Amino acid sequence: MLVCGCGRWMHTQGVDEAFDDEPHRAWLVRSECVGCGLAVGCEGSPEETLALVDRLVWSDDARHALERMPPYVAPLVKPEVEDYVRSKGQKVVTMALMAQARQGGAVAWEPEAEQRLVNVPGAVRAMARLELERTAVERGLARVTVALMEEVKARYFGMAAGK
Ligand SMILES: [Zn+2]
Repeated sequence: MLVCGCGRWMHTQGVDEAFDDEPHRAWLVRSECVGCGLAVGCEGSPEETLALVDRLVWSDDARHALERMPPYVAPLVKPEVEDYVRSKGQKVVTMALMAQARQGGAVAWEPEAEQRLVNVPGAVRAMARLELERTAVERGLARVTVALMEEVKARYFGMAAGK
């Protein structure tokens, strides 16, 4: 927990999962004092910055993913995901935890596939990860493979080309 210079507690406003640093993930935790409005950010590993998170929060990416869901789906998904995150003793709803919650378990990654994900542009990496893990579960695969990646990538590029 952070104490503001004015003496009040600062509260967590959001968490940015810095996917650009993958596989060494970093979080940018934003905190704000409601008393005087001072806002600060702290970047570090999830382990380092978790202590600054004072309530259950959604990472920016996870929140955006939730907001992109159909209006009738999001209200069902939100409590389900939050219950899962709490059951894991976590306080931040990350893209990975969101994917796990929706699938009922973690999806493993082939080392080669994990390495390739690093080369995916940061802007689409989070969604690519989610899509790959979702597809793996749909297929009954225990893990994300390079072959699956190639297939999903083709679909993504196809969409980007407007097909
Ligand atoms: Zn203050």
